[in-house]
Amino acid sequence: MSETCRIIALANQKGGVGKTTTAINLGAALAKAGKRVLLVDMDPQGNASTGLGLAAGDRRSTSYDLLLEDAPATAGIHGTQVVGLDIIPATTDLSSADVDLMASKGRSRSLRNRLAELLRDRPDYDYVLIDCPPALNLLTINAMVAAGSIIVPLQSEFFALEGLSQLMLTLREVRASANEALRIEGVVLTMYDRRNNLSQQVEADARGTLGDLVFRTVIPRNVRLSEAPSHAMPVLDYDPACAGSMAYLELAAEVIQREG
Ligand code: ADP
Ligand code: MG
Repeated sequence: MSETCRIIALANQKGGVGKTTTAINLGAALAKAGKRVLLVDMDPQGNASTGLGLAAGDRRSTSYDLLLEDAPATAGIHGTQVVGLDIIPATTDLSSADVDLMASKGRSRSLRNRLAELLRDRPDYDYVLIDCPPALNLLTINAMVAAGSIIVPLQSEFFALEGLSQLMLTLREVRASANEALRIEGVVLTMYDRRNNLSQQVEADARGTLGDLVFRTVIPRNVRLSEAPSHAMPVLDYDPACAGSMAYLELAAEVIQREG
C-alpha cells in the first residue's frame, strides 16, 4: 500500500448523521488545499456520486466492480468538477455485493486488496475517503479493514452517543481480526445549532467522554449544505462563503494537521 496515502472511512451505522455530506465536502476542501483525493462511494444509495454530479447513466464502472470483478482497480475512477477530487461511484447493485461477498473467501479484505492495487497504479493520491452505508454490514467492514482510520460524524442530537458503543465494538473486532492499525481519526459533530441547548449538551458530553478524539471544528446546521447536492456540487462551489463551507475548510485543515 502507498505509504503516503491516508485512507479514511466515514462510518456511523446511523443514517442521516452527515457521513455523505462530510465525505463530499471534506473531500472537496482537501482538494482545494492542494491534496489529491479519491472518494470511494460504498453506499448502494450512491448519494455521494449523485451529489458530485455523476448521474446514474454516467457511472461506467463502480465500487461494485471494484469489489467483485477483475477489471483493473483504476477502471472505476471518474473525475469530478472539483480539481483534485475523483470518485469511484456506487449504484444500487452494490447492495447485492454484500451477499456476493459472503460467498467469497477473504470477504472482508476485498476492498483493502483492491485499493492497494489501485494505489500502486495511482501513487499520487494523498487521501482516499470511503463513504460507508448506514449499517455495520460487510460493506462497512470492508471499508474499516481497508482504512487507516475512521472519522465518525455525530449528529448533535439526543442519543447521539448511544450508537457509538456498537461502532466501537465493531472497530475492536476489525482490529483483532484484520486491521490492527485501525485508528479513530476523529469524531465530528454535525448539524450543530449554537442556539440550541441540546447541541451544546451533546458537545459537552462528547468532549467529556471522548476528549481530544472530538475535532475542534463543529459543522453547523446550514441549509446551503443540504441544498448543494441537488445542484450536483460540493458546498464550496455552491456557496464558498457560507458557514458550511467555512466549517469544512476548517475540518480539512484539522485533518491535515493530524497527519503530523
Ligand atoms: P448520512 O450519509 O450519514 O446518511 P447525509 O450526509 O446524507 O447523512 O445527511 C443527511 C441529510 O442531512 C441530508 O439531506 C443532508 O443534506 C443533510 N445535512 C447533512 N449535514 C447537514 C448540515 N450540517 N446542515 C444541514 N443539513 C445537513
Ligand atoms: Mg450517506
